[in-house]
Amino acid sequence: MTTQVVPVSSSLQSFTGPEAEDFRETVRYRLAPAIPDGWEEAKELTENHPEALELRRQWDRKRTEAGYPVIFWPREYGGNGFGPIEQVLFHEVWGELEAPQPLNLLGYTLAGRALIDWGTTAQKEGFLPRILSGEDLWCEGFSEPNGGADMAAVQTRGTKTASGWHIEGQKIWTSFSPRADRMYCLTKTSPTAPRHHNLSVFMLDMHLPGVHVEPIRDITGIAEFGQVFIDVEVPDDVRLGAEGEGWTLSSIVGANRQRGEGAAAFATRAAEVGAWLRRLRHCAKAGRRGGGSGVAARLDEIAVRVEGYRWQVRRAVAQAMRGREAFAAQSIMKIYSTELIQQMTEFALELECDEHERYWRSRHLDFRKLTIAGGPNEIYRNVVANRVLGMGRG
Ligand SMILES: Cc1cc2nc3c(=O)[nH]c(=O)nc-3n(C[C@H](O)[C@H](O)[C@H](O)COP(=O)(O)OP(=O)(O)OC[C@H]3O[C@@H](n4cnc5c(N)ncnc54)[C@H](O)[C@@H]3O)c2cc1C
Repeated sequence: MTTQVVPVSSSLQSFTGPEAEDFRETVRYRLAPAIPDGWEEAKELTENHPEALELRRQWDRKRTEAGYPVIFWPREYGGNGFGPIEQVLFHEVWGELEAPQPLNLLGYTLAGRALIDWGTTAQKEGFLPRILSGEDLWCEGFSEPNGGADMAAVQTRGTKTASGWHIEGQKIWTSFSPRADRMYCLTKTSPTAPRHHNLSVFMLDMHLPGVHVEPIRDITGIAEFGQVFIDVEVPDDVRLGAEGEGWTLSSIVGANRQRGEGAAAFATRAAEVGAWLRRLRHCAKAGRRGGGSGVAARLDEIAVRVEGYRWQVRRAVAQAMRGREAFAAQSIMKIYSTELIQQMTEFALELECDEHERYWRSRHLDFRKLTIAGGPNEIYRNVVANRVLGMGRG
């Protein structure tokens, strides 16, 4: 694969102004032609429909060839090394173009980021190039049948053996597990150490004979996640970071709070919902429901929330750049954005727009997941109550 990473000579200091505009123009110029042929039609499908997944794989390759492999990885590891403002602007252009989500999202964000921060030199050299090339697709093994919201309650056990570790347990709701090559597997390695210091991360080879995946069909009819049964021996060199520190390596608090990366990534959806709003307006005129004053008022309300979302992202990133912890702001954005998106798809279906019926229906079903996946909104409400409103733990 020929790749020329687009460097950033100096980190932008402002979201606006001529330099920011130049940056956006360059990204748009290089990114737009990298969107795979067929994506316009595939937008009618859900994000994880097999056809969409194949285009997402192409997008990872073509975006890399266009010079944008992973914008937040440092350049020494093959990323762009963009600063937080470049990341936001990049994500905004991405969302405006309604380009696909990366297929190897968990390879870039979870495994890649953790490897860069905590991996040994040999682990970085072994795993990072394979993430970039798309050879290794990653999945995230946190949730288990007895609970997903409480990550620290993991039951999958890791026991030391003469040559490494024996890992035994079960994961569930593991996105991409039917096709993944590696799992970022959170494992309990000490029965006695205190909570939050008794877990370790293993970079599990999904093709080992002791790993068995049973796909689970979701509400859209697609089986892109599954439950994973694990009973394997692995060498110690696939353990990532210090033994017992798996909770820190896995929580978004550890991975990206200081850099504002997690907050910046919300910018893609923030821009995307802007594009959806234009489609909603069209449906308000074209739909069978007709566009009376009630419809206009709801469109206005959504428009305000869409704009609010965009500014929340910028504000959270600006705060992270000033050294403020971004986790509370990210929690607010998780709740706000997922509920906004569900509000939009519900309203869209009420408009009964034949032209975009399939588009909205697939999103409406697919995005039911948003308030659960990545941790349920109730948990994020706890964070906001606790850290933002200072209400303490009830
Ligand atoms: C589409 C999709 C993809 C997913 N992909 C992955 C993946 O790739 N990897 C992975 O590890 N997991 C994945 N998950 C799992 C997801 O992270 C969990 O479903 C989520 O964390 C909730 O865990 P649970 O389903 O076990 O619910 P539980 O932990 O049993 O919680 C059930 C409900 O109880 C409430 N609740 C629980 N605890 C609290 C609390 N402390 N305060 C207030 N309310 C609470 C919430 O309403 C919660 O929804 C995915 C889920 C979905 C829907």
